[in-house]
Amino acid sequence: MLGRQYQVASTRLHHSLYSLSDNSDVGPEDEEAYPLPSLSPLQKLTRDMCKDDKTIKDLVVGRRVGFYKVRGEIGSGTFSRVKFAFHALTKDKVALKVLDKTRLDSHAQRLLSREISSMESLSHPNVVCLYEVVETPSRLYLVLEYAGGGDLHSRICTETKLSDITCKITFAQILSAVKYMHKHNIIHRDLKAENILLTSTGCVKVADFGFSTQISDRSDALDTFCGSPPYAAPELFREECYLGPPVDVWAMGVVLFFMVTGTMPFRADTMGKLRRCVIECAYTVPPWVPGPCQRLIKGILKAPPGERYAVDQMMGCDWLLPVEFPWSLVHPEPSSLRSLLDSDRGSMDEEVEEEVKATLEELGFSVEHLHNSETKHIRSPVTGVYRILLHRAQTRRGSDCPPVVRGMVRDPRREGLRSYRGLKHTSKLCLLS
Ligand code: ATP
Ligand code: MG
Repeated sequence: MLGRQYQVASTRLHHSLYSLSDNSDVGPEDEEAYPLPSLSPLQKLTRDMCKDDKTIKDLVVGRRVGFYKVRGEIGSGTFSRVKFAFHALTKDKVALKVLDKTRLDSHAQRLLSREISSMESLSHPNVVCLYEVVETPSRLYLVLEYAGGGDLHSRICTETKLSDITCKITFAQILSAVKYMHKHNIIHRDLKAENILLTSTGCVKVADFGFSTQISDRSDALDTFCGSPPYAAPELFREECYLGPPVDVWAMGVVLFFMVTGTMPFRADTMGKLRRCVIECAYTVPPWVPGPCQRLIKGILKAPPGERYAVDQMMGCDWLLPVEFPWSLVHPEPSSLRSLLDSDRGSMDEEVEEEVKATLEELGFSVEHLHNSETKHIRSPVTGVYRILLHRAQTRRGSDCPPVVRGMVRDPRREGLRSYRGLKHTSKLCLLS
């Protein structure tokens, strides 16, 4: 049973975002007259957020955001700054993507709400997890899983090019993430080395869903030019309607080429020349690139989207045969607080569930907290703690381990993936309306 001792307190849920417990109306004199029972970490934190001068000042100046203590800046993008922070109760590290609401026009707002809804619907070891969204009058904060190993672009620039094994391990994880996104009808549209983050253990985390879109069907035609020009597929440069999955596949081909060779396949000093280069599919794979990898690159970087490899074909390619995909074929469903409250727990592992429940209880969260937060879902601090704890429990069970590359292919299941090679990608190009 969750937090029995705090259930009475939590029935009086009210006021601000931070007042999850009800002790804020007890003054110092009352405390002397009626000594409080020992407070849970949650009660202490919510009390400090309402009463402690230093904590309130930190909230006002942005050194604290919701339940998070903010530290230095770790990155910046077109619309955002990304800061390092940690959760005041669980102490887990997070990345806070900070957006200034006053700078967002209606188009940027639309992109942002897509970014949030795409991330909310995904749960995969190779996709950055969105824990919570915190909103203040002037800012919006996306609280994200922290990837402490930098981005793939910086890594390639530092190491010139990556070893064949590192490329295999990294690309297999990107592939696993993209297969999962496409299965959930989400097209990323901005895959590039800068948006592929790494953890300190070399696990890939695909990030930045700012240009992502949810399609209802794989044959949905899209018409917005998105992404970074060196990673853009020929159909995007031709300003045609395009299908989502092949555009992500093309960008993965560019990432693969960049990883393996340390150079970009399409380079030009003007946009016009780059456009021509991409449309003509004019690139050369250096002869020293291993044959199986060359074949994969050439299967992906094909101008007609219908002839380009599909994700399943990539998974079955010779180059990736020695890679064990521990999670690619079984995907957890996105989890919500409901999973803890319902008797039908869907895909959640019982052991994980018990661990999360026990920690929530230790911190002072009651069943009522979970129920009351459910409707606010991603904008609730309870969801934030829940998702952090869930992620921590899953990581502890190995979800963040990069795949293993075997010297030889031993698993017959892997051999079974060879059959993917025969698959023909059936996508069609849609003509401009
Ligand atoms: P862009 O200009 O690419 O559109 P953006 O405003 O959408 O940028 P992001 O790409 O999401 O922002 O983040 C900018 C940078 O912040 C990243 O390149 C990365 O260095 C850092 N960053 C983002 N998310 C995380 C994270 N979860 N963990 C660690 N660093 C991160
Ligand atoms: Mg980015």
